[in-house]
Amino acid sequence: MQTWPQTTIEINIFGYDSVFSDQSWSIENSLKTFPCEYCDKVFKAKNSYYNHVNIHKGKTFCVVCNKHLSTVSNLKAHMAQKHGHHESI
Ligand SMILES: [Zn+2]
Ligand SMILES: [Zn+2]
Repeated sequence: MQTWPQTTIEINIFGYDSVFSDQSWSIENSLKTFPCEYCDKVFKAKNSYYNHVNIHKGKTFCVVCNKHLSTVSNLKAHMAQKHGHHESI
């Protein structure tokens, strides 16, 4: 488990809505899952998995205002809108 620097975290890493849930899960659906290599979360959608792993890798972190965005796309939009950067990360 990675330790984040002292900062504001906008997203809830542990409350991901795509996280494996054994209540509404069938064997059929569980054939293809995407387990996180950094923590014990398992995702059923590849996009959700990649979005999540990018959080661990710090790819959604805005160095300007020390915030974590929920996805890389959101970070790019954030950089463009808030800081006027385009594709600079
Ligand atoms: Zn994880
Ligand atoms: Zn920012």
